[in-house]
Amino acid sequence: MKKAHRHSQVKMMRRASRVYLNELNAGKAATVREFLHRCHDAVQYFVDLFWQREDFSADLADLDTVHRGRDRFGLTTRLAQALAKQAKEMVRSAQAQGKRRPKVRQHTVTLYSHFVKLERFDGSFDWAVRLIGSGAPRLVIPAKSTAHLNRFLADGWPMAKTVRLGRDHRKRLFVEFIVEKRRPPLKTQGSTEGMDSNYKKGVVLSDQQMVGQEVYERIQTFTKRQKNTKAEIKSLIGHALKQLDLSGVKKLCIENLKRVRCGTGGKFPRTLNRRMSHWLYAYIADWVARRCEELGVRLEWKNPAYTSTTCSLCDRCDRRSRVGDRFQCRHCGFSIDADLNAALNLKRLGEAGVYGLRSLPSWSFV
Ligand SMILES: [Zn+2]
Repeated sequence: MKKAHRHSQVKMMRRASRVYLNELNAGKAATVREFLHRCHDAVQYFVDLFWQREDFSADLADLDTVHRGRDRFGLTTRLAQALAKQAKEMVRSAQAQGKRRPKVRQHTVTLYSHFVKLERFDGSFDWAVRLIGSGAPRLVIPAKSTAHLNRFLADGWPMAKTVRLGRDHRKRLFVEFIVEKRRPPLKTQGSTEGMDSNYKKGVVLSDQQMVGQEVYERIQTFTKRQKNTKAEIKSLIGHALKQLDLSGVKKLCIENLKRVRCGTGGKFPRTLNRRMSHWLYAYIADWVARRCEELGVRLEWKNPAYTSTTCSLCDRCDRRSRVGDRFQCRHCGFSIDADLNAALNLKRLGEAGVYGLRSLPSWSFV
């Protein structure tokens, strides 16, 4: 029973699209802020309770606990239940990742169909987010559609009945619309490929596709203007990644944890360089994971150890074979772009069905 349930959950793909409520009138904004504040405090209260009890189960919170939160924060039972559920998920995922007791930083609340109704709006706004009580305030939040949201709708992603309401770190209010679609079955036909990425060279696929090289050049010009940097890079890399053709790919292998490359040639201070490189890799990996899900491509995470210093032709691992952007094998003479060599190694891990290069019988450390 439990397994079947989990299975059916896995089959839905969900995406969120954030719309800022810049034009919300002051009275409504104050009501929403107050509501978010109360929800935030209640979620933290539940988190602390579950954590203290070491309750990391997936079960719903017991009614007794729900009532305690309800009475303490003046909520309805239904809202207290929803917030307890949110807290439970946070606690469970923190525990699963070996993290400490979660601090609820964000003022975000997920509102199910008991609390909210979405309607198309006529006039200068596109959506009416109608909060209908049950513990949420009763009010209508008008929201404009964005290009991001419209793209999902045009691509056939139906709007879910759930909406997220929140306040970001700059205290701006937003609504997150959720769109969802059934996940397509995994492809059974196609090739296995590896993908290497670094922020100097962009993304390299083992079938020789390369995208995003121009992003690094743009990053170099950003140095001082930190504020808009990430949004700009996201849009640049997103645009570049869309050029990747995965139509013939069945399985894609990427590195589990990015090795850090500290080039000395960069204009960034070393720490910034490193942070940027981590952040960018995480962003690319996320993007690719979503794309794979939508295309039915199996994504496999592989051990990054030795992928850049092993020859993809003769399997000998030697640091000295790596010379800058080239891989020049000291043993068999194979010469190839260093990132393409790494991507080919990842591809081979995928084909062999193993996690790391050391599991390949022909691999040797020189
Ligand atoms: Zn070789």
